Amino acid sequence: MSIIRGWCPTAWRPMTAGDGLLVRVRPRMGRLHRDAMLALCELAIAQGNGQIDVTNRANLQIRGVSEGGWQMLIAALVALGLVDPDPAREARRMTLAAPCWRPGDDTYRIATELDRRLGELPALPGKFGFAIDAGPAPMLAEAPGDLRVERTAAGRLLLRADGRATGVLLTPGHEVDALIALAKWFVVSGGSAAKRMARHAAPLPDWAKGTERPAPAGPLAEMPGTSWPLAFGRIDAPSFHAMLRRSTATRVRTTPWRALLIEGDHDLAVPDAPVATDACVGAPACPQASVATRALALRLAPFVAGRLHVSGCAKGCARAAPAAVVLTGREGRYDLAFDACAGATPARAALDPAAVLQHFGAS
Ligand code: SF4
Repeated sequence: MSIIRGWCPTAWRPMTAGDGLLVRVRPRMGRLHRDAMLALCELAIAQGNGQIDVTNRANLQIRGVSEGGWQMLIAALVALGLVDPDPAREARRMTLAAPCWRPGDDTYRIATELDRRLGELPALPGKFGFAIDAGPAPMLAEAPGDLRVERTAAGRLLLRADGRATGVLLTPGHEVDALIALAKWFVVSGGSAAKRMARHAAPLPDWAKGTERPAPAGPLAEMPGTSWPLAFGRIDAPSFHAMLRRSTATRVRTTPWRALLIEGDHDLAVPDAPVATDACVGAPACPQASVATRALALRLAPFVAGRLHVSGCAKGCARAAPAAVVLTGREGRYDLAFDACAGATPARAALDPAAVLQHFGAS
């Protein structure tokens, strides 16, 4: 099997990065059995660089894989049931389910039905995804999602196209019909050129226009596990493997907010991590980065009030939403902006690391 290089990797289509191949794993419903998580850690140690990154779509990435190692890795991932044996089907698995789901609830019901009906979806752009966020209060507002199922303050389910403030009420039992229909409309109306729903300016079809708003942010639903924060969304496979083996944990859930949820062990000694800080892998691991990111983010985090985002380039992989402070790498320097996304027009441009630290009194 030849390796296809592209900017939106899957397990079957690994991307070449500065540190080897990057292989993405999309756990079904964002949940792995303890044994599968242990096996994934072992694979990351044997075939990757010993680290597993959790993405802002709650997927997992193994980095630093050789081309020969990829052959063994993909066979093992398919055997574990973590990757679909059909590459085309695997490429369509772009559903993010709110991590608080419980078996049988609306998020579970809709996300699993969509997974069963992937074959009915049209060919969508690589980053196009579905956010199923049907708990009592929204959890995925800051996570990527082109078509969103959410709940109104009155408790009804709605379908909202990303970039639109309002959506249309869904008919109970026909939520996935509506998702598939709107995905088909996106392609037929030329959305593939825009790639993302929020950038596709075509008026929605009449049936998908609505005035319903998602419920305001409220207290989060009770989490189905212990929150395990991850600095920059990175799992150190050897130490996590050792912790998991010692624990009584039964399952691990991924989330889009740089943490795992660990089910079945309430007595875990949870580590500290800078969870209000986002930083992509940066240079030298990512060929698009001209600056290092995480070391600077760690030094800066204690001096920044609010969320900090350090991005190796304007793509902003680590965080799609605005942050209070954002540093974007450009030609070996950092552009500084406030309340903005990566790549925003800077308030101060082309700073070296010393100037950045000085700006925040961190030098
Ligand atoms: S934001 Fe840019 S530098 Fe960072 S990981 Fe994404 S592409 Fe690479």
